[in-house]
Amino acid sequence: MSYPDLRGKVAIVTGGGAGIGKAAALAFARQGVAVAVVDWNAEYGRAAVAEIEQLSEGEGTSSRAAAIFIQADVSKAADAERIAAETLTAFKRIDILFNNAGIQTYGTVTDTDEETWDRTLNVNLKSVYLVSKYAVPHMIAGGGGSIINTASVQAQVCLANSAAYVASKGAVLSLTREMALDFAPHNIRVNAILPGSINTPMLQFAASHETDPGKAIEEWGKVYPLGRVGRPEEVADLVVFLGSNAASFITGAPFLVDGGLAARAF
Ligand code: NAD
Repeated sequence: MSYPDLRGKVAIVTGGGAGIGKAAALAFARQGVAVAVVDWNAEYGRAAVAEIEQLSEGEGTSSRAAAIFIQADVSKAADAERIAAETLTAFKRIDILFNNAGIQTYGTVTDTDEETWDRTLNVNLKSVYLVSKYAVPHMIAGGGGSIINTASVQAQVCLANSAAYVASKGAVLSLTREMALDFAPHNIRVNAILPGSINTPMLQFAASHETDPGKAIEEWGKVYPLGRVGRPEEVADLVVFLGSNAASFITGAPFLVDGGLAARAF
């Protein structure tokens, strides 16, 4: 799919060094978007930027497409402020913000320790507040834009033993609706994506605790009406659509990309 309106736009992608974020950073770059890849893992972030730079040389991306790496912890205010500042220095504007960085933690409310609860809420939820806080004024100054927040299918249905994670993702969905109302007058649309299991390093880490990780992922996929887990690129396609003018009348909405999981009662 091609979205010509995206050419020359500027996107911030948090957690852009791996998984869903990396796939989205590459997908935006293919549309001619300049991408600020934000990650706390420098090795991942630099590798993603190197891949984007190869694309612009060889795979049809305009010469204006470019990428920078910003090493940052999205749960820290000073880093969030620096993300906006470094993006502006490099690309002069901010049009799209993909708040995607997140961590998975496990535990019930009785066995989740306070440090795990705080870390999960800080990385998954507080980061959306912080990175948006510093990016939105520049989006407003540029005439508007699109924010996409990564929640999870677990904002609607959930697995046991995931108290902090599920709470953080439910709150991301609520915050998305609220931000959509606040910024609609400024021509900024804000939507949430709700992925099911997607085959990323996060999922592969969960599978690494099983005897046969590949088999485990295959088995997890059988729960899905489509019979498999998703690919990061299948989420990235949705993110790029929501970032583009093709989604110009869509805001405050949750988008399941879950292979039919939430449709299933049993
Ligand atoms: P991943 O672990 O494969 O990649 C996440 C990236 O974010 C990594 O590069 C990591 O270094 C970075 N990151 C993590 N915390 C950070 C922080 N504080 N600051 C900066 N960078 C940070 O994860 P993924 O599977 O691609 O997940 C991306 C998002 O999608 C997360 O919010 C996750 O909760 C959500 N999600 C994933 C799945 C899935 O099955 N993979 C399902 C539903 C929702």
